[in-house]
Order: sequence, then structure tokens, then C-alpha cells
Amino acid sequence: MSSDCIFCKIAAGEMPADVVASDDEFVAFKDAHPLAPVHVLVAPRRHITSLDVIELLGPDGAGRLLHFVASVARELGVHETGYRVVTNIGPDAGQEVFHLHLHVIGGRRLGEMA
Ligand code: 5GP
Ligand code: ZN
Repeated sequence: MSSDCIFCKIAAGEMPADVVASDDEFVAFKDAHPLAPVHVLVAPRRHITSLDVIELLGPDGAGRLLHFVASVARELGVHETGYRVVTNIGPDAGQEVFHLHLHVIGGRRLGEMA
């Protein structure tokens, strides 16, 4: 755990968040500033800075992460209407929190994205 990382604190239950799903490896919680009716962040409990170092989650960590994302989307009911999964990596993408997280966004028709 990185002591000054807010998502480490959320994963450890040391900081309040609206957690919608979790297992021993990942946690999903509502974004504090939602862009859509459904806007959840999925993060590994382990502190890694971004998708750029996904190998630090270990063998098949990326696969487990994506399976968890899909199960969260099903739980939230957006699997039928559709949703978008986004992750920001580094300055040009505007990454603000340097603990890997995937945004799961849905519940309304989303605009086009480059
Ligand atoms: P990113 O790093 O992907 O560019 O953006 C970080 C995201 O985390 C933003 O959408 C922001 O609203 C969300 N966020 C930042 N701090 C907190 C927090 O303390 N709690 C929650 N639930 N979300 C946060
Ligand atoms: Zn962290």
C-alpha cells in the first residue's frame, strides 16, 4: 500500500467510498464526480500506478481485471444498454490518481470519443 494514495485507502476501507462490488483482488466504487448515471471506478487492491505496468498484477492479472469489470457492469445492469471502459495513463491522458483504475461509464447514450 502506498501511504498517500487515496485509492489504496479506499481499497483498505480507510477512506469512505460507495463500494458497489469487491473481491480479494479488486474493488469497484462510485466516482466522486460522475459523468453519467453509472460511473464506477474499478481498481486493484494492490498499488500499481497505471495500465502501463499491468504486468505487476501477476500472471493473467489483466484478464482477471477485465472479467471483474464485466461482472460489475452486469451487476449494475448496464451490460444490456451498453457502457464504456476507459483508463487514463499519464499526463497526456490527464491521469489524476496514480493508482490503476478503469472507469465504467453508462446509463445514458455516450457521445463519440476519439
Ligand atoms: P483519472 O485519474 O482517471 O483521470 O481520474 C480520477 C477519477 O477519480 C476522477 O473521475 C475523480 O472524480 C475520481 N476521484 C478522485 N478522488 C476521488 C475520491 O476520493 N473518491 C472517489 N470515489 N473518486 C475520486
Ligand atoms: Zn494506491
